[in-house]
Amino acid sequence: MTRLIPGLAACCLLAATPVLAQSIPADVAAQAILLRDQALRDTIAYELVESLTMEIGPRPAGSAGDKAAVAWAVQMMTGLGFENVRTEEVTVPHWDRGSIEADIVSPYPQLLHATSLGGSPGTSDAGIEAQIVRVTSLNELRALSAAELSGRIAYIDHQMLPSKDGAGYSKASRIRSCGHYIAAERGALATLIRSAGTSHHRFAHTGSMLNRDIPPTIPGIALANADADLLTYQVLGGEPVTVQLKSSARHHAKEKSANVVGEIPGRGELANEVVLLAAHLDSWDLGTGAIDDGAGVAIVTAAAKMILDSGSAPHRTIRVVLFANEEFGLDGAEQYEENHRAAVNDHVIGLEADSGAGRVWRFRSRVADDSLELLDAMHVFLEPLGIERGDNNTTGGADLSPMRKAGMPVLSLSHDSSKYFHFHHTADDTLDKIDRADLNQSVAAYVTAAYIAANIEADFGRLTPDTRPKRSCSAEDDTWASFPD
Ligand code: ZN
Ligand code: ZN
Repeated sequence: MTRLIPGLAACCLLAATPVLAQSIPADVAAQAILLRDQALRDTIAYELVESLTMEIGPRPAGSAGDKAAVAWAVQMMTGLGFENVRTEEVTVPHWDRGSIEADIVSPYPQLLHATSLGGSPGTSDAGIEAQIVRVTSLNELRALSAAELSGRIAYIDHQMLPSKDGAGYSKASRIRSCGHYIAAERGALATLIRSAGTSHHRFAHTGSMLNRDIPPTIPGIALANADADLLTYQVLGGEPVTVQLKSSARHHAKEKSANVVGEIPGRGELANEVVLLAAHLDSWDLGTGAIDDGAGVAIVTAAAKMILDSGSAPHRTIRVVLFANEEFGLDGAEQYEENHRAAVNDHVIGLEADSGAGRVWRFRSRVADDSLELLDAMHVFLEPLGIERGDNNTTGGADLSPMRKAGMPVLSLSHDSSKYFHFHHTADDTLDKIDRADLNQSVAAYVTAAYIAANIEADFGRLTPDTRPKRSCSAEDDTWASFPD
């Protein structure tokens, strides 16, 4: 295996970067480089995501697949040699997508490719047949009166564009999770949205409709982009457009699921401190959950396994947590924070993988300001992977958000999201979308960051606890600052 930058060995890196010698000891630096380069030719991450997607497949919260995934993860972590492997019980909702029919009735009848949004109620057996009212934003929807929307179907036609940083998803997913509340207040019978994704296939994109855990009262249905084009064409033709929707989506009773935890215990004085590696075990049901978040499960587990196999225990404990139900309410993340609230200050840093298997291109953080020099020193080891240094304003990911709000600093490795939203939350989220070399580059980045964080004496300070309430669906709370969940 050739090095990423020929001739850039541990000795030269250290000599060229004085700050490294101060904050990252030479033995830690050398081992980090070894692990990083080894990750590029390792096979375990691909084997893990292959096993999870091919043997378990779809695993939405509360489903039989969810339970099977928990059992799979316990067996997998035990088999790999992690210690303290355990489940921490989480109560999760169990929503069933059921079947769907969506058709344009007039003026030009056509079948639409659609899917219910997570948490949507179904329709009656007779379905809903009503005229469409098209808007392109939440503010346009808010501007409609009850007289304009009552008895009709609100159609929110916002097009998400692909980008390397996936920035468009925040706005598109907010439309998904807020549009139906605004429409229901004005008497709409249902909401249709253009998928919050960038696929050119006729696969509609699902995702949660929930905001602040308030149940939706009207059906929410997403159209594949090509079908949204079709509907928009007919609406812009000027004649009234009538659509029929039938959905058998429904809620079942809540179920038990679990966060699955495995550790590499630390040694010495820092052993009670935790470096938290996170991903989520659940997935939506349309695909097999390969890129969301089978890839994340594989990346963080493979990174930890490489450290486990390196032969020397880290100073800090490395804890891998595969969270329950990220997709539909963050129950696992909230339960973890509740379970570990007394030990929140022992969580020195968190690093979550939940944005696919594209190559990591940026290293972001949210740490105390006086730790930024340390982050720059860590970045020196990531730079040969083609990773640039980002800002100190990351959210750190959805599953780490309760711990981050409680004060835990977070790191973030941004995956190239240019293609992620072509497949994410659709039937197209399958194993063939994962490129082995890109996956390994990701593992290399995570193992480097995790190994250094677990073995240096310095820490990352603490964040000021964030006690702000969750965003509502009001115009004042229309901010698009957060990255994909
Ligand atoms: Zn995810
Ligand atoms: Zn997701």
